[in-house]
Amino acid sequence: MLTGRMMDFPLTLTHFLERARTYFARSEIVSRNPDKSLHRYTYADFYRRTCQLAHALTKLGVKPGDRVATLSWNHYRHLEVYFGVPAMGAVMHTLNLRLHPTDLGYIARHAEDQVVVVDRSLLPLLEKFRGAVPSLKHVIVVPDDGPVPEGMLDYEQLLLPEPPHFDFPRLDENSAAALCYTSGTTGNPKGVLYSHRSTVLHTLVCCLPEVLGLREADTVLPVVPMFHAAAWGLPFDCVATGAKIVFPGPHLDPQSLLDLMAEEKVTIAGGVPTIWLGILALLDREPKRWDLHAMRTMVIGGSAAPPSLIDGFRKRHDLEVLHAWGMTEMNPLGTLARLKGDLHHASAEAQLAANASQGFPVPFVETRHVSDTGEVLPWDNATMGELEVRGPWVAASYFSNEGGDRFSADGWFKTGDVVTIDPEGYLHITDRSKDVIKSGGEWISSVALENALMSHPAVLEAAVFAGRHARWDERPLAAVVFKQGQQATKEELAAHLEALVTKWWLPDDYLFISQIPRTSTGKFLKTKLREDYGDHLLKTPGASPTRS
Ligand code: AMP
Repeated sequence: MLTGRMMDFPLTLTHFLERARTYFARSEIVSRNPDKSLHRYTYADFYRRTCQLAHALTKLGVKPGDRVATLSWNHYRHLEVYFGVPAMGAVMHTLNLRLHPTDLGYIARHAEDQVVVVDRSLLPLLEKFRGAVPSLKHVIVVPDDGPVPEGMLDYEQLLLPEPPHFDFPRLDENSAAALCYTSGTTGNPKGVLYSHRSTVLHTLVCCLPEVLGLREADTVLPVVPMFHAAAWGLPFDCVATGAKIVFPGPHLDPQSLLDLMAEEKVTIAGGVPTIWLGILALLDREPKRWDLHAMRTMVIGGSAAPPSLIDGFRKRHDLEVLHAWGMTEMNPLGTLARLKGDLHHASAEAQLAANASQGFPVPFVETRHVSDTGEVLPWDNATMGELEVRGPWVAASYFSNEGGDRFSADGWFKTGDVVTIDPEGYLHITDRSKDVIKSGGEWISSVALENALMSHPAVLEAAVFAGRHARWDERPLAAVVFKQGQQATKEELAAHLEALVTKWWLPDDYLFISQIPRTSTGKFLKTKLREDYGDHLLKTPGASPTRS
């Protein structure tokens, strides 16, 4: 091999941090405080305080590779940890504040966190699991809306005496930068350890015009929590490009978010479908209240975005949605539903179908889907199989070396998502493998049924899951939440579905509930639905049978 003669320059987050200070010192970072007031400062302030944090943590004894946890909402101090900790060679570990204290205790103990930076308002949660984490030496409290309790370290007091520059070390690009645990609903959560290199490459690709197209002129609102796969990398993208950032703090209700979008002239926002369903419902009720002209892309991911949601924003509010698929194990972006080729000139219907698929991979992510026996399947838009991925920001193993069965012998990661792939490479997720409905030996796509149900004007949200069935083993059951003040009968819903999906897929019954149970990252918690209603059809065998 003839080796190229270029510099071996490490791909580290430190470069983005230094670049932001040098070239984008006046870009703004806005955060909503717990009392709803806004905190504003510049990238110059952010850089200075990040250096001060690195000094303070060094004094506390934090060394390269040590884990510094966060238990925080999205705000500027969280961003300081996002850069200060990796740039000093330590590892930022984001704890998910929506998890049960028992899980948090397990995760923090497993990660061997030594320091935790915690919002004052979340101290009661920390107290519930702190005792389970023997490695924890220091608790640093972000004094969000009040004083720090006696005997704890105050984030602000800690930074105050420290100098505004830090001599950040030259790191190996493969050194660990951040740790995030999967929010799996079965088995123990597993740690995914991102490297500087994986995060930098992910950031560069995210900023490409055909990906998120993020640039300095943007104003970015990460609604997705910073503990959920590093807010999909959005904070890194912003610092890399010098874009203005708007953090929502703990206020994630539709009205607060719409106020922020309008007042700060947000151009890109990212969040899970539930957030956007709430926002769409409010916009439909008060279409003229907010001026959202600045908004150019609303990124939706984390679970399937129903076509009716994408269409509703587009048709009724002239707002563009970009549907993305990814995983904690992938830093997290994998695919994006952008149009390409002939689709640019296709009918509105065909374009909507492509935009509502999970899209095709971003550069450096490769996909294939395989059968139960590991046979690689054709891209024919019909054959279902488990999606596998590989690329420079796909986990090669878990932090603890558990979950080895997720990594194939020939170098692919098994996602656990069941998909079809069309000849153009667009993915269509039909289910999580553990959520598939197998009726009489054949698979029914719960995602397709959910999307069809959510296109009914009265339906706010719908989750379809497997109910045990005496004859067919499993049959689909639909849990439906109606929009405020609206309703439909089971017969009306069935008639609506009949026009959209094959008849034998129709749910055997509809359960009208007030809220669909969710995971800590906003996905439908189907294990809970199965637990609560899994025997419903056995108990009520006469419930609207659709297949006999
Ligand atoms: P997490 O690691 O918590 O982000 O969860 C990753 C999983 O969320 C994926 O394996 C999918 O099952 C699901 N997911 C993420 N984005 C989408 C999407 N756009 N459509 C359908 N499922 C999604």
